[in-house]
Amino acid sequence: MRTGTNHLFIPGPTNVPEDVRMAMNVPMQDQRGPDFGAFTLSILADLKKVFRTTTGQVMLFPGSGTGAWEAAITNTLNPGDRVLMARHGQFSTLWAEMATRLGLTVDVIDIAWGAGAPVNEFMRKLAADRKGEIKAVFVTHNETATGVTSDIAAVRRALDDCFHDALLFVDGVSSVGSIDFRMDDWGVDLAVTGSQKGLMCPAGLGILGVSQKAMKASETSTMRRAYFEFRDFKQTVETGYFPYTPPTQILHGMRRALDRINAEGLDNVLARHARLAEGVRRAVAAWGLSPCAEHPSLASNTVTAIRVPDGVDARDVIRIGYERYNTSFGSGLSRLAGKVFRIGHLGDLNEGMCLTAIAVAEMALVEAGADIEFGSGVAAAQAWYAQGRTAEAALR
Ligand code: PLP
Repeated sequence: MRTGTNHLFIPGPTNVPEDVRMAMNVPMQDQRGPDFGAFTLSILADLKKVFRTTTGQVMLFPGSGTGAWEAAITNTLNPGDRVLMARHGQFSTLWAEMATRLGLTVDVIDIAWGAGAPVNEFMRKLAADRKGEIKAVFVTHNETATGVTSDIAAVRRALDDCFHDALLFVDGVSSVGSIDFRMDDWGVDLAVTGSQKGLMCPAGLGILGVSQKAMKASETSTMRRAYFEFRDFKQTVETGYFPYTPPTQILHGMRRALDRINAEGLDNVLARHARLAEGVRRAVAAWGLSPCAEHPSLASNTVTAIRVPDGVDARDVIRIGYERYNTSFGSGLSRLAGKVFRIGHLGDLNEGMCLTAIAVAEMALVEAGADIEFGSGVAAAQAWYAQGRTAEAALR
């Protein structure tokens, strides 16, 4: 018998706020009814604000981030196209694998899991590509497996400095809505996310930001696609009606989640994520442990991957957290299995919740054999959070 609430500190799916869950508890409705179009259009309009695009278009497909990856590729590229990617974590690895499976020629740069996107190496390859053979550059904005946020503006500068015309694909699955993401300012052509992370909804929607340039590319792209067809979604953009049965419940949840983001203010949402993440990072430092991110400038505001000390198996930390304390942490994926555990700190979250994660992690670490002083991480985070509150109060 498990008592009390389950504490979910995985980096997605994230906690769905009570009012978002309640908003989804609606009867089935007519998706061709007279008011449904305006309802969908309000969601698309508010999602554009979250992507920070006015010139691009947001599209929603039933699916998840992985489906949106596929939609982005198959609508804009051609079989055999050369694309530039980096592998520095499980998600960038999976995206590269998908691109290969779909028949692209993937020019992949392997770097350390914990490093950021290799902007200089991208730049070198783009500069050498005199014939314009590279058709797209793919960047994972926030590598959820390692807790690393990469500099998308720098990749855009690299493209511009080389006068290169390649499309810029950005995986924003664990950044959009929780880490500063600027589709227009950064010239992102295909931005990908899902409903279940910063957007605080259940999984079920793959969400895309599509630039005008990407839309144009989709008109001549010859890759095979059917369900995920941008052209078909144009009708939805114009009328708010879907060419197939949409998941109306999730859309109601999304409407409420966007209302929450609007009420808090996107900038405040991002600042809250930064403040909460810093508390977790200070706890990790107080434990004497290292994040997977190679440099503090790369540290993600949505997830921290923590390297466990030698002799400790991160899988034990996760198991103990789950079995004894009803608390879920993210696991170390693929080659990081056993070496790291992850604290997801995104979505509907506050200081008290982060302190719970830190306190439980301390117990699980100690019980798994780590030499950590009880309360050290909690105290470090408390000191930071209390200071943050004071600083905010002083500003009012
Ligand atoms: N990209 C990143 C950075 C992710 O974190 C994830 C999932 O966690 C994905 C892609 C895959 O998304 P989904 O699980 O929604 O298909």
